[in-house]
Amino acid sequence: MSNLMSDNIVPFNWCNYLADEHRLLPENRCAEKISRKLITEKVSIAPKQILTLLRQSADISNTSIPIPTDLRSFYLRYRPTPLQRASAFEEEIGAKAQIFYKYEGANISGSHKLNTAIAQAYYYKKAGVKHIVTGTGAGQWGSAIAYACNLFGLQCTVFMVGVSFRQKPERPAMMRLFDAQVYESPSMITKVGRVKRSENKELFGSLAVATAEAIEHANQSKYTQFAIGSGENCVLLHQTIIGNEVINQLDQINLFPDYVIACMGAGSNFAGISFPLMRAAKQRSRQCKFVAVEPVGCPKLTRGVYAYDINDFSGITPVSKMYTLGNRFIAPGIHAGGLRYHGTSELLSALYANKRFAACAIKQKDSLKAGLLFAKSEGILPAPESAYAISAAIDIAQYAKKGSSILINVSGHGLFDLTAYEEFKKGVIDDGFPNEELLRESLADFM
Ligand SMILES: *Cc1c(COP(=O)(O)O)cnc(C)c1O
Repeated sequence: MSNLMSDNIVPFNWCNYLADEHRLLPENRCAEKISRKLITEKVSIAPKQILTLLRQSADISNTSIPIPTDLRSFYLRYRPTPLQRASAFEEEIGAKAQIFYKYEGANISGSHKLNTAIAQAYYYKKAGVKHIVTGTGAGQWGSAIAYACNLFGLQCTVFMVGVSFRQKPERPAMMRLFDAQVYESPSMITKVGRVKRSENKELFGSLAVATAEAIEHANQSKYTQFAIGSGENCVLLHQTIIGNEVINQLDQINLFPDYVIACMGAGSNFAGISFPLMRAAKQRSRQCKFVAVEPVGCPKLTRGVYAYDINDFSGITPVSKMYTLGNRFIAPGIHAGGLRYHGTSELLSALYANKRFAACAIKQKDSLKAGLLFAKSEGILPAPESAYAISAAIDIAQYAKKGSSILINVSGHGLFDLTAYEEFKKGVIDDGFPNEELLRESLADFM
């Protein structure tokens, strides 16, 4: 049963911002440009995508893409998501500006990832795919795709980064509830996994290895498909349901925000809320500042280079020009697992290179402090990732003009991240600064 009172708030279209700004993308998008040094390991398999999603990722002519009616009915089960004024939080921090937040944590997967998981499962099912394989880091994406596959009667296999698999057993448990097969990565069931296992005795794993395992596993059958949770244009597109919806909600109270703030992993929750508002700001001649927030430990926008790089360090995924710290960079083990990716999406990178939005980096302790403050005042425990955006909002609220308004995208809940908050309270957590030597070495590949 959907929320009948606000049925018309849920968008009928996605905002295809690629159509507005594709001219900003690098002209020469060929792989020859990358330094040979970047390819650390050649693997002769490539990810494949179904036609619908490939078309969505490359569509430069349709500014708006209709959400199929039967797919929209699945969105109606948990949308619209709340838009709230954070009055108690404003008071707590002595904000001069009004603070609003869009909350994407109130669904079974606990994050915005479900917005693309449902869309992808829908299109895979239509294309005759029977089995989805994916890699997940902290597990939010794995939970979302496991649930979505179950909804559409698709089989689902997830390779989850070993260290998170052991630290957060609730995540694989949730995936299994929805009948997914979950492997701790590196696993013994793929060639990549077996090689990594023999090399690495600690078995920490990484998203790059989990992704490589998923791609290898997916390429074994033509009814099996590899799916990805962020970064691709089609994923950013699906997430614009957030921004289109928030515009409908804000129009009801006659408000246009002066600041939009979201955390930045590969960029899908930032793009999801920002793209529709960037377009609306232009159409309505409004001034609005967009701020992407990253951890000091993985500062691809504030300290990275804009260069051709591969998307994982096994060299399987396609090359694109992006803000990157280099694929050899490994972020410190901060609790915001979703923000540890070394690069950013191609479209967002092009926008950032053209100064269409700002970026800042926040320390781990400051983010968790802000997250806890938000929980105490607003009654919602943000995901450690979302807490970065909240922390930046505190800073901005201090110098923003009186009467101005800030909109934060709270991308998920932190109910499976209590250890992070507890460690913060005990004072046994650090700021998560990067290993400077590793960062220098990784960036040197581009000099
Ligand atoms: C995955 C994730 C992120 C980071 O990914 P983006 O694609 O940059 O949005 C942020 N917050 C939460 C809760 C996540 O699960």
